[in-house]
Amino acid sequence: MTTRIFNFAAGPAVLPEAVLAEAQRDLMALPGIGMSILEISHRSKTFDEILQGCEADMRKLANIPANYHVLFLQGGASLQFSMVPMNLLPAGGKADYIVTGFWSQKAVKEAQRIGSVNVAATTETENFSRIPEQSEWKLDPGAAYVHFTSNNTIIGTEWAGVPEIAAVPLVCDASSDIFSRPIDVGRHALIYAGAQKNLGPSGVTLVILRDDLLARSPKNLPTMLDYNTHAKEKSLYNTPPVFGIYIIRLTMKWLLDQGGLPEIGKRNADKAKLLYDAIDGSGGFYRAHAKPGSRSNMNVTFRLPSEELERRFVQGSTEAGLDGLKGHRSVGGIRASIYNAFPRPGVEALVSFMKEFQRKSG
Ligand code: PMP
Repeated sequence: MTTRIFNFAAGPAVLPEAVLAEAQRDLMALPGIGMSILEISHRSKTFDEILQGCEADMRKLANIPANYHVLFLQGGASLQFSMVPMNLLPAGGKADYIVTGFWSQKAVKEAQRIGSVNVAATTETENFSRIPEQSEWKLDPGAAYVHFTSNNTIIGTEWAGVPEIAAVPLVCDASSDIFSRPIDVGRHALIYAGAQKNLGPSGVTLVILRDDLLARSPKNLPTMLDYNTHAKEKSLYNTPPVFGIYIIRLTMKWLLDQGGLPEIGKRNADKAKLLYDAIDGSGGFYRAHAKPGSRSNMNVTFRLPSEELERRFVQGSTEAGLDGLKGHRSVGGIRASIYNAFPRPGVEALVSFMKEFQRKSG
């Protein structure tokens, strides 16, 4: 038996052990099928049941209204930075982007290749340490859509709720907090997320999209980049990421078994609080990057008094079986990613390590 350590990686990230155990079994042969999940046709009845089951459980989990399509695409969240404006931003139109971190900036950069972008708000001058208040947004009432990033993976900030905007369609990059708490899908026009944090392995991208948006796509878009193609063919226009969808299917079942999004949301808040309390109670030895009110329950970022101490912290924690705590190179410091599948004992182990490290070095 291989020993598992506590994996604080930002993505690909820890998956539920029950999901891994079932996948391990099905890797040799799916029960009653005699072929591996890696070997079956995407047009087979077996895969059809996996795909349908995945979508049905997701709809149940997140109360996805009937007028929304659930698509399983490829190209990562990064391709959605392009597909969103290609499909939704008409020639001569403008889109609003609320910029709260590096991934929002990348989304803006891609949208600017397609059309005109209005940065409706940004906290860049404060190193993105908080989510801008509603009073700071300069939304354009004529915008084709408003784009925001619900959780900023690198910086460690998260929107407390869905931004209150008028009738303009709201587009959300939810890559790093999808299904980590209850979500009101009906208040969004489009939600997208790379799978590799809260859903499954990398290589599959979830897009949840309101039906009426499909009419906006220009007719001359390349087939694969047109949402209409994938909505019409139910993610089976070409060979989809079969294994990734299968894992998401197991993760959806796991989330429902855990008590759904209200329960997982409570657990995530509890895990994050444990860590933020340890940071705030350290007498200034550990300093959270994100301002209270904007703090992420998924990616907890903090600094130590010096880069040398941070280096030793990363080295020492790795030796203690706490992996992946080095912050993103653009921010530095420490980042603990504690997604849905990350166990509470792992957070407790980190808190103990932090206390001991401070005692030895403070
Ligand atoms: N948006 C956010 C918020 C992310 O965290 C990431 C990846 N870490 C991306 C977009 C890019 O995702 P991908 O690597 O799937 O293209």
